[in-house]
Amino acid sequence: VVPVTKGNGYGFGNRTLAAESTVIGVATLAVGTYEEMPHVFDTFAGDILVLTPWRPWQTGSVDDDRVIHTVSRVDDLHRLAVRGRHPRVVVELMTSMRRHGIEVTELPDVAKLLEAVRFEGCAMHLPLAGDHHQAAAAPLVEQALDAIHEYTDRRTIWLSHVTPAQGAAIGGPATTDVRLRVATAMWLGDRTSLRARATVLDVHQVRRGQSYGYRQRRAWRHGTILVIAGGTAHGISLEAPTPATTARQRVVAVAQGGLDAMGKALSPFRVSGKRRWFAEPPHMQCSMIWLPGDVKPPAIGDEVDVDVRFTTTAFDHIVWEGKQ
Ligand SMILES: *Cc1c(COP(=O)(O)O)cnc(C)c1O
Repeated sequence: VVPVTKGNGYGFGNRTLAAESTVIGVATLAVGTYEEMPHVFDTFAGDILVLTPWRPWQTGSVDDDRVIHTVSRVDDLHRLAVRGRHPRVVVELMTSMRRHGIEVTELPDVAKLLEAVRFEGCAMHLPLAGDHHQAAAAPLVEQALDAIHEYTDRRTIWLSHVTPAQGAAIGGPATTDVRLRVATAMWLGDRTSLRARATVLDVHQVRRGQSYGYRQRRAWRHGTILVIAGGTAHGISLEAPTPATTARQRVVAVAQGGLDAMGKALSPFRVSGKRRWFAEPPHMQCSMIWLPGDVKPPAIGDEVDVDVRFTTTAFDHIVWEGKQ
């Protein structure tokens, strides 16, 4: 298993996940970009695989013995090879994902360059949807290994977005050594063990007709304004575009967009068991939430649950409870 850490470190921070990878005792940790490498380099002493393919403008740490580069173009492999320093490389193969990768037809050109680098295997990034992509992956592995076997006896493949069973099915026929690159299933695998919470900073009773907020909207009935810690700086309400693939998901997205257009948006903050409306768009470090007059407001200092994505939220602090 090759744990992956990148971005906000899946809510925990890259340094925390690097430390966790050290505890687990894995040989290799993957990061998303070259820019993220300094976050993990001192905390994790093993090898570091960079998932973003190497490009000629990446001049730092090219020959570092701990760094494994992903190469997705023959031209880039050529540039690394001619430097004469034998950098460590994984060759990314093009899959139906169509993000980065070398086509199988180009592999004879790749093979000739492998003597000038330390070849660590081939990588495949499979789409999340559909088993048929996985069915196509096993023949691709065999084809790839055939194309290069005269130049290397390394039979390692690095896979993404597959379960251990799928990894075995893909790598098994060609008897390869399979490395699974995993993040979400590993760091956020048991969501019931994680809780995001926000602190109530202020509570204000508002009468019908009274105005509030930056925009001086008027309350159309009696209620409570809650000022809750957590705003745009924490990623509150900065949502990734919905992948809405089903009709129902599209209806929900359109309905949500319509409410947004009316200046009404559902907040991720849960008060008395329900997500509540923003009183106005979130501010940088806090949010103003509207609570109807018939709901008993929480007290200042109380914590409320927040429904947020861990990959887009910047938490102020992390509290570890129970067994360490
Ligand atoms: C981010 C990433 C992963 C980890 O993805 P999860 O779905 O979070 O497990 C694996 N492979 C590549 C190439 C990635 O960019």
